[in-house]
Amino acid sequence: MALKILDQCINCDVCEPECPNDAISAGEPIYVIDPAKCTECVGHFDVPQCQEVCPVECIALDTLFQESKEVLMEKYQRLKILKI
Ligand code: SF4
Ligand code: SF4
Repeated sequence: MALKILDQCINCDVCEPECPNDAISAGEPIYVIDPAKCTECVGHFDVPQCQEVCPVECIALDTLFQESKEVLMEKYQRLKILKI
């Protein structure tokens, strides 16, 4: 599952530099996560880094994007190839 940023976001910009997949960006009116790039941090870290740092805990699982750990790992591998 990708993660999504909820309306409580205060646009503090703390999460954006922590994302290993560059999936987070400033949106209008709040920050957004690109579900095509979010792997729940699978492949990089044990836990989602954005959730770890968000001061208002406004990042949740996006139930519209149901993905198993295996699918997330495949996404991670695809993103890694694109970065080379
Ligand atoms: S869970 Fe990880 S990959 Fe997904 S947006 Fe947060 S920091 Fe980026
Ligand atoms: S860390 Fe939380 S409050 Fe700050 S920009 Fe990211 S989602 Fe919004």
